[in-house]
Amino acid sequence: MKSNWSEKAARSAVKKYAAQGINRDVALRVYTTRLLGQEPKLVLHGGGNTSVKTMMTDVTGECIEVLCVKGSGWDMGNIEPPGLPAVRLKSILKLRKLNNLSDEDMINEQRGALLDSESPNPSVETLLHAFLPHKFIDHTHSDAILSITDQPDGAQICGELFGNQVSIVPYVMPGFKLAQACERIWKKSPNVKGLVLLKHGVFSFGETARVAYERMVHLVTIAERHLLGCHPSYSISPVPIAKNMLLPERIAPVLRGAIAERQGEDWRRLVLEFRNSVSVMKFVNGRDMRRYARVGPVTPDHVIRTKPKPLIVPPSAMINEHSFQTVVKKLVQDYQETYNRYFDRQNRRLKQSKTKLDSMPRIVLLPGVGLFGLGENAKDARIVADLAETTARVILDAENLGTYKSITEKDIFEIEYWSLEQAKLGKNRESAFSGHVVVITGAGSGIGAATAGAFAREGAEVALLDKDITAAKSIAKKVGGVAISCDVTKAVSVKKAFSHVCRIFGGLDILVSNAGAAWQGRIGEVDEKALRDSFELNFWGHQRSAQAAVSVMITQGTGGVLLFNASKQAVNPGKNFGPYGLPKSSTLFLSRQYALDYGVDGIRSNAVNADRIRSGLLTDSMISSRSKARGVTETDYMSGNLLNSEVTVDDVAKAFVDLALSKKTTGAVLTVDGGNIAAALR
Ligand code: ZN
Repeated sequence: MKSNWSEKAARSAVKKYAAQGINRDVALRVYTTRLLGQEPKLVLHGGGNTSVKTMMTDVTGECIEVLCVKGSGWDMGNIEPPGLPAVRLKSILKLRKLNNLSDEDMINEQRGALLDSESPNPSVETLLHAFLPHKFIDHTHSDAILSITDQPDGAQICGELFGNQVSIVPYVMPGFKLAQACERIWKKSPNVKGLVLLKHGVFSFGETARVAYERMVHLVTIAERHLLGCHPSYSISPVPIAKNMLLPERIAPVLRGAIAERQGEDWRRLVLEFRNSVSVMKFVNGRDMRRYARVGPVTPDHVIRTKPKPLIVPPSAMINEHSFQTVVKKLVQDYQETYNRYFDRQNRRLKQSKTKLDSMPRIVLLPGVGLFGLGENAKDARIVADLAETTARVILDAENLGTYKSITEKDIFEIEYWSLEQAKLGKNRESAFSGHVVVITGAGSGIGAATAGAFAREGAEVALLDKDITAAKSIAKKVGGVAISCDVTKAVSVKKAFSHVCRIFGGLDILVSNAGAAWQGRIGEVDEKALRDSFELNFWGHQRSAQAAVSVMITQGTGGVLLFNASKQAVNPGKNFGPYGLPKSSTLFLSRQYALDYGVDGIRSNAVNADRIRSGLLTDSMISSRSKARGVTETDYMSGNLLNSEVTVDDVAKAFVDLALSKKTTGAVLTVDGGNIAAALR
């Protein structure tokens, strides 16, 4: 590992933050914290922490010594000064004289010592930073250090490798006890450059930001060189893998269905993130995978996101699609039973009643295929998959060096059920659509774009399908979804797009079939090709999308929602609008047919009947010419309805969201036209 320290960058950080009234110590602390945080081999997703001891002025004008330590909720890679809350050092050092301190009291004391009560909670490792005297302290969960310390003889290996450069701390759960242990051990050899915490990570320290940072790089480099010397290339022997394995996009919906849990009227759904990098494949294909993959986390704080063990699907199960579903259901059931037994065993031992977390796996390993990370939303699933990939690399290195060993089941339980760790996950906003995947066709503009935005704001993951991929990408960038190229008039394109959705999110729950375009012509004279083209898009486009969606929904077995953009034309034909109205009326019927045929599978099907919406179908120039033809102003034309109010794309988007939420509504048409009795359904 190379040091990325740059005098120039350090100077400019000091200058930049000085302009904001931030002192030199904190500016440099931000600079090297970012250097560490931007290296994924050291720190991942909120892991690791740093501190600096410096002077600050309190409200009375008195200059006091404070500890600026990483606050929870901040990532080291992009930290800013508010991410390093200042704690009155003298106040928290008083805690040193205690023999015991509960977690709740520790957090309370740390918060009470904050200079600014609005600051985030200081790290759970704050006391460790406080009890050691060094000005700058850096802490990471370096991959290489973990591979070396996650061994039965980790202490001995570290002793040989680092000599008297570091002291070795046996595994102690983070918090007050670990802070005490580190201080006690450091005092015995006060000249060390750092502390190696077995099965946890490494601390380095120094009088300047540069010294502490470069000591971290130095210690990690020693570990990396040692691992490299052990194996020029991974030597884990692979199991033979059949060639005709199921594709991840076929596996994902089965898996997603099996891990969904009934929750009242709905299901608790998770989103899947697939990975199959070189190291992931070496890991899942290893002959001893069932042993080393189930040992435990590489560093304790992963366990809150990954669960103690992954779910493993045997390769033989992934050849036949029909038996796969049955096998996966059984595997998930077994996984839950094992997890429940682990919980009961450890909860009994602790003699306190912890509330059991859900018993579903978060990592699924599939030899020959790859792995899935599972999360409440796409972001969480990505984080889990990142942790799983890191775990794979660390374990492979550990196995090449010796035998991978993790903390004990008791220690794993204590960290998984530690209230302070649970707090790190934050309060996942309970939204109606969390874990839901919504596919919207024609999402690059107008009603489709507005609908994508509306679902994304409600917490859903959205896939924006459009023929115009540039348009879809620009909307996806705005609303936060994934753009996928799809021409609904082509069967192959629809198939590909839905496979892509399954590969990205693991499946889908709601389809908004919206893509459409208007054709005009007097019906007796209309060109047959024009009418067929309109049917291709305005009827077949809907049928193809719905068919593809239903196939995934049936595989998942967790119901679903189909929503069609019908039009006023489907109910109340307009003069010379036959080529548009005819396929739309078929689509309205299609919506009802799906309601009828798939209600038994918990799949609801509804349509929105919207009229006179300013969009790609009704352009500004069309509005201008139509209003002129009727001899009214544009405003009067657009608000020519019972409510005298223009209907917008956002009104239509809201109708789609409302229909998705209306759990007992199927086969319905929701009218969004500001009131038009001629078009009212009867
Ligand atoms: Zn740590």
